[in-house]
Amino acid sequence: MKITMIGSGYVGLVSGVCFAEFGHDVICMDKDEAKIAALKNGQIPIFEPGLAELVAANVKAGRLSFTTDITSAVAQSEVVFIGVGTPSRRGDGHADLSYVYAAARDIAAAVEGFTVVVTKSTVPVGTGDEVERIIREANPDADVAVVSNPEFLREGAAIDDFMRPDRVVIGIEDERARQVMSEVYRPLSLNAAPLMFTKRRTSELIKYAANAFLAMKITFINEIADLSEAVGANVQEVARGIGLDNRIGTKFLNAGPGYGGSCFPKDTLALVKTAQDFESPVRLIETTVAINDDRKRAMARKVIKALGGDARGKTVAVLGLTFKPETDDMRDSPAITIVQALQDAGAIVRGFDPEGMDNARKIMPDITYCEDAYDAATGADVAVIVTEWNEFRALNLGRLKTLLTQPLLVDLRNIYRKDEVSRHGFTYYCIGRPNEE
Ligand code: NAD
Repeated sequence: MKITMIGSGYVGLVSGVCFAEFGHDVICMDKDEAKIAALKNGQIPIFEPGLAELVAANVKAGRLSFTTDITSAVAQSEVVFIGVGTPSRRGDGHADLSYVYAAARDIAAAVEGFTVVVTKSTVPVGTGDEVERIIREANPDADVAVVSNPEFLREGAAIDDFMRPDRVVIGIEDERARQVMSEVYRPLSLNAAPLMFTKRRTSELIKYAANAFLAMKITFINEIADLSEAVGANVQEVARGIGLDNRIGTKFLNAGPGYGGSCFPKDTLALVKTAQDFESPVRLIETTVAINDDRKRAMARKVIKALGGDARGKTVAVLGLTFKPETDDMRDSPAITIVQALQDAGAIVRGFDPEGMDNARKIMPDITYCEDAYDAATGADVAVIVTEWNEFRALNLGRLKTLLTQPLLVDLRNIYRKDEVSRHGFTYYCIGRPNEE
């Protein structure tokens, strides 16, 4: 099939290259000229494991190309995906749909013959109706079926997630789209990945309900971690003890500094706003959002407490800045709030992240960016693990100790064992585990 992907960011580029890998002819389009120029040059604008190799292979095979010209791309495509950003709108937290609607207007002007228009971006319930209205109003002759096909991939494991999804959700109103979308995903259905067809609004809500549920699960275990600390229990054992119950499941039960990233914060907020608009509030999610917001500054307070209650003039080495490992994405990373709160308390911050520092510099210009974890720790009064990158899991603790002014480690990801760290003479603080474990 001939496919155009509008928006070539984390989702658009990964989905586009995977569709090409399925054997489709794919044009990845973006309005960002620098991004497209880089891609044409063989440079990948984001860090995502395995992406560079897959892009190169599919470009070489002639199945994948890049353009800023939406008109010719759309005109020659049977299926047009919209994969542009839907960030939180400034001020009220609703999803900002201006990029989606701009793409819809561009599609309307360019479309030729029957075309399936698919919203892959995460969009609130009813957006498909509006996309369809915009296209029909701008071009009454357009023959389109507007489909919802939310994306569930995770940054850091995006290609594998796309190639081996737990399910593919497809929301349709026009039966002609069923056969086209089945064809688009045929290689997956051969692998028995369930293709789930629903109505369009149901599909749109599935994406938000999924993200909200996962955010709630993380927030639940974070609260249980705080309670574990208070009562002297071990949250990791609690998580395992409940997770082995199949109804609960072991995943997403790692206590930490609060969820962040480009999806959960904005999607939970957007769901809260949609639900309020429909006079059907989702109070569990409202509370989840509030708890998570408080948690990030609470993590900075934990560090300050470890420093003896006063961070003024103290130097903090922050290890890990991205919201999770294996990505360079800094959007809504908990590190941003934690660093800000530490600076508000008068601390000096030295930071290191294996992939996120270029993006971090744009958001946090006033911290010292370091070569590696040891460079960050040099002269610092405490080392704080904020992101569980593999290279922080096996730190040379003996060396770290000699570089810090005092052997103090705060582990906001619970990646060390207390006895192991103590053996090296460290005072160790973690999340939801008693001192001796
Ligand atoms: P992104 O910011 O990385 O990419 C969006 C791209 O769209 C940018 O390159 C931008 O230049 C381009 N763009 C914006 N308006 C355009 C237009 N009118 N025409 C052409 N290009 C345009 O965003 P992302 O992380 O890929 O997210 C895209 C969507 O997918 C969002 O709705 C997000 O919620 C959803 N999503 C993201 C993830 C994730 O892990 N990042 C996972 C699932 C779903």
